[in-house]
Amino acid sequence: MAIKLKFCGGVRTVTGSSHLLVTEKSLILIDAGIFYGHREEFYSVNSSFSYKVHKLNAVVVSHAHIDHCGNVPSLIKRGLRCRIFSTSATRSLCRLMLADSGKIQEEDINYLNKVNKKLGLPFRQALYTKKEGEKSVKKFRGIAYGQKFKIAKDVTLTFVNAGHILGSAVVVLDIIEKNKSLRLGYAVDLGRSGLPILDGPVAPDGLDYLVIETTYGGRFHPPIVDAKEQFKNVINRTIEARGKVIIPSFALERTQEVIYFLNELLKEKAIPSVPIYVDSPLAIDITEVFKDNLAFLDEKTRTLIRMKQSPFEFLNLKRTRSRRESKVLNEDKRPMIIIAGSGMCESGRILHHLKNNIEDSRNTVLIVGYTAKDTLGDRIRRKERFVKIFGIEHQLNANVEVIAGFSVHADSNELFNYVKKYPDLKRVFLVHGDEDQSQAFYNRLINDNVPVYRPVQDEEVVLG
Ligand SMILES: [Zn+2]
Ligand SMILES: [Zn+2]
Repeated sequence: MAIKLKFCGGVRTVTGSSHLLVTEKSLILIDAGIFYGHREEFYSVNSSFSYKVHKLNAVVVSHAHIDHCGNVPSLIKRGLRCRIFSTSATRSLCRLMLADSGKIQEEDINYLNKVNKKLGLPFRQALYTKKEGEKSVKKFRGIAYGQKFKIAKDVTLTFVNAGHILGSAVVVLDIIEKNKSLRLGYAVDLGRSGLPILDGPVAPDGLDYLVIETTYGGRFHPPIVDAKEQFKNVINRTIEARGKVIIPSFALERTQEVIYFLNELLKEKAIPSVPIYVDSPLAIDITEVFKDNLAFLDEKTRTLIRMKQSPFEFLNLKRTRSRRESKVLNEDKRPMIIIAGSGMCESGRILHHLKNNIEDSRNTVLIVGYTAKDTLGDRIRRKERFVKIFGIEHQLNANVEVIAGFSVHADSNELFNYVKKYPDLKRVFLVHGDEDQSQAFYNRLINDNVPVYRPVQDEEVVLG
């Protein structure tokens, strides 16, 4: 029987990564990510599966971003019997991320059911609850980078560092059948060299096939050192004007990256000594996971933590867990830096900080991450004159600054260089990118005579 790869999700789009490897003896699912769309689409796409869940022999999770692991609890609810393999750091992060994802869904469904009650419509259910999200990690088996693990009769798994977020992995699957063997690599998502905290991505030897992301397949990031310089200047300008720097940030990786740079800038005395608030219980818990997983950090960060000079703990850094502590920040008129979620300003405590600070021209809203179209974060990034927060229009008088260089995704050049490490590839499959980005990267590879292919949703291709 031919070895096949089916593209079940995260093709021609960014979210919902999911791929099915079909061999003579096994069915292996690579990633079970949540697809983000409008509410109806969200629930219908994420609760339909084009394969029999109970027949899977193994699930492999590349990293703890919800668009890669967020649908694992749905699989469990559908009768998943097999184990889920990830790195041990990913396993720890998934406990927090999946609980948070369940909590967000419960809140959304509670709101929807209130509306449905009024309209006499039937009640709906979340894909899974906070508790179900949290519990699902019991099925995870955490393994180290470089460790070979037989996950099915004819498939061996190895993880190597993807350099994207803590614990992220390029998945390597060796498939050995009677008369053939092949090696498949899955670099979705792929990070960058030179990022703080993590080592750069590793390219495993001898791949026959490669599945690679294309989030920034047609873009080029500014260097990371420039991002740090820009960060310094924004802070200095705002503090000089006696304003606040408000940073909407993803709780996983971006917040730790921002804290890391703030610690460096303070040590270099490049910015004034002002209080820095991490106003996100999730980000605080995630930062603890970083401290518990030294083997997954780069040498510099590891050494700093061992020498009790952790870049995640310093005098100016304050953590606000409770809502009461968070609200106190509104009354405090001193210059300060506030980091809060969500990164795209769609929910969470950042909304209160924006509401309270966005009309004051002394303040700065600093966008450090991706903002999807039509989100509040995107409207702020585009400097719309008025933005709606909690249903009320606010005039956007604060400065808006954007730092693109903090990205944890490889850009077009970094993706290209990664692919070019494999002159003997039989085929490269492009996934995890919007049409324009994956098409741009496709053109670049085709012009260089790389055997490249852009699959469509639910397409099945034969390997070997
Ligand atoms: Zn990711
Ligand atoms: Zn992703």
